[in-house]
Amino acid sequence: MKEMICICCPMGCRLKVYDDQDPIRVEGNTCARGAKYGAEEAVSPKRVVTATVRVRGGEIAMASVKTSGAIAKSSVFDALALLKGKVVDAPVREGDVIVGNIFGTGVDFVATKTVEKAQ
Ligand code: SF4
Repeated sequence: MKEMICICCPMGCRLKVYDDQDPIRVEGNTCARGAKYGAEEAVSPKRVVTATVRVRGGEIAMASVKTSGAIAKSSVFDALALLKGKVVDAPVREGDVIVGNIFGTGVDFVATKTVEKAQ
């Protein structure tokens, strides 16, 4: 049995996940999202990743980015390495794909902030 906090919403329910049972049983969740989260977290944890990327010629030097979906927790640092040293030209629009199809997952790093060209 594993104990964990559900991070799907601010309530932070304490979950007990019986991952030695088939199907995996989850207790302590207040809603169905928590049951899904607990079962997935026990087997193959995933995370949405937020970061920044450098912008050349922009009104500010960095743009915030995040993954368009969750990726394996074990690949988070490798995914962040894809952004290291990367520079994109302004303007950057919210929703622009900064790194596409991370490790063939179909998940992209996308801009979450618009950065206009410097005047
Ligand atoms: S189980 Fe439901 S209510 Fe509880 S933290 Fe997770 S999403 Fe929120």
